[in-house]
Amino acid sequence: MQMSFCIVGAGFSGAVIARSLAENGHKVVVIDERTHPGGNCHTERDPKTGVMIHRYGPHIFHTDNENVYSYVCRFGEMMPFRHRVMATVQGRVYSMPINLLTINQFFGTTLGPSEARELLARKRRADIAQPANFEEQALSMVGEEMYRAFFRGYTRKQWGIEPTELPASILKRLPLRFNYDDSYFAHKYQAIPRNGYTGIIEKILDAPNIEVRLGCTFEQLSESWDHVVYTGPIDRFFSFDIGRLGYRTLDFETFYVEGDAQGTAIMNYCDEQVPYTRITEHRHFSPWDQSGTDGSVLYREYSRACGADDIPYYPIRLVNEQALLRQYVERARATTGVTFAGRLGTYRYIDMDVTIAEAMKAAEMIQTAIAQRTAIPAFAIDPLS
Ligand SMILES: Cc1cc2nc3c(=O)[nH]c(=O)nc-3n(C[C@H](O)[C@H](O)[C@H](O)COP(=O)(O)OP(=O)(O)OC[C@H]3O[C@@H](n4cnc5c(N)ncnc54)[C@H](O)[C@@H]3O)c2cc1C
Repeated sequence: MQMSFCIVGAGFSGAVIARSLAENGHKVVVIDERTHPGGNCHTERDPKTGVMIHRYGPHIFHTDNENVYSYVCRFGEMMPFRHRVMATVQGRVYSMPINLLTINQFFGTTLGPSEARELLARKRRADIAQPANFEEQALSMVGEEMYRAFFRGYTRKQWGIEPTELPASILKRLPLRFNYDDSYFAHKYQAIPRNGYTGIIEKILDAPNIEVRLGCTFEQLSESWDHVVYTGPIDRFFSFDIGRLGYRTLDFETFYVEGDAQGTAIMNYCDEQVPYTRITEHRHFSPWDQSGTDGSVLYREYSRACGADDIPYYPIRLVNEQALLRQYVERARATTGVTFAGRLGTYRYIDMDVTIAEAMKAAEMIQTAIAQRTAIPAFAIDPLS
């Protein structure tokens, strides 16, 4: 049975679902209010320097999922990229995430792995057996001095709240290494597309049954479809009528230099007196692509509470937001004709590989429901889990 679909959002979620439905013979219209496809992964050439920029913040593709990696490779060339992050603290540069080099730099020592472990065992707060929040987690991992230097100011700038109000789980995900491995990610595949993420997403959307309409919001359309897949914010679908889910937004301040400004793609600024959280120098994300001028384009990144007209970046998901989310999810489950997907549709931070895997799962769920002639569920992934 051929059906008509409207997919709201031309990011990875919308594109992957659209492609799968189109390849199964359905008619698909993909709309996005932005004038480009790619969602937040959008890349474009900077007009002044020709450098490929990550317009909505730096994106590095990293995954252990063979299926997802071979899927993206179908649509573009992936260039191996080993991501490293530096951090400036009190006028000194350190290696991140915290590894043996960071420990030796910070304490002015030349310790080996087991000596460094012993040092941190003396520094860390042994009395915190079950860390109840981010701050306690950090104190029980690295102790007061490193917590204050690397985490406290940065976290307050990034989230706008006290680290004691954030869950310990955020920090549990960060590695602490007693060797000189300074790779930010540990995944088997770590890469950046040669022609940018938008090049890949355009190719995913390039199929006979897909029509792409840019610069158009879902709310302004009057047509009807057999089914809608909504990858925009779940609270926006319901006109925010029971309240807005909290997000952090980002402001990017662009500036230019001649040549290489910082010698690396990302420099974090952990001190609270420095108003931005990090500086991204885009040319380092495509070292294979050094044609054009010698100019370099950089972003200073500032984090703040997301207002009604801002781009929602990071979902906050604290207690109040969880309660509101539960109400929206119940409403979504009671609504027919729409499936919610993606980072905004499920109000979660998800990396690109997880986004693609979940989009594949959503498309499969939709095809199964069509084949079995049952109602298409509101979610393939439970946003409350
Ligand atoms: C700063 C930052 C850095 C990141 N870095 C990485 C990284 O290094 N590696 C990694 O794997 N992941 C990274 N991510 C995560 C990555 O951005 C997401 O996995 C990905 O963007 C999710 O894709 P999506 O299609 O679900 O959502 P999006 O990319 O947000 O796409 C949703 C689209 O829907 C459109 N839309 C929404 N509502 C409507 C409407 N009502 N009408 C019309 N259009 C609408 C929006 O304009 C948008 O284009 C990062 C995220 C952030 C915030």
